[in-house]
Amino acid sequence: MGDCIFCKIIKGEIPSKKVYEDKDIFAFEDINPQAPVHILIVPKKHIDKSLDATDQDKELIGSIFMVANKLAKEKGIAESGFRLVVNCNRDSGQDVFHIHFHLLGGRKMKWPPG
Ligand code: 5GP
Ligand code: ZN
Repeated sequence: MGDCIFCKIIKGEIPSKKVYEDKDIFAFEDINPQAPVHILIVPKKHIDKSLDATDQDKELIGSIFMVANKLAKEKGIAESGFRLVVNCNRDSGQDVFHIHFHLLGGRKMKWPPG
């Protein structure tokens, strides 16, 4: 998508601190971290939001969970705990309309999330 900030990050047109990449998935550090570990995991395929994922995306979305587990272990937050968050649409606070999974950890999280 032409003006999508995350598509530009994936293509390297906007710099980011990459932590993982394979043929379908890209992960990078959030520019405004909300926890000691705050990584955004995104499919390279542009999907606006989780509501727009289709049956064809099932394997891709599942793979993102596997990447989250791998990164949680690498970053040392697997055992202490972490949160995987997907915001969808206005009330959730979704700002960037390229589906992304926030991997957050390294501190005690509150519930409800607010
Ligand atoms: P949302 O509110 O859409 O779920 O989350 C968007 C996230 O993207 C925010 O946590 C925000 O800090 C992050 N973000 C926005 N623009 C950039 C950017 O240019 N680079 C990086 N690394 N993160 C960004
Ligand atoms: Zn995009």
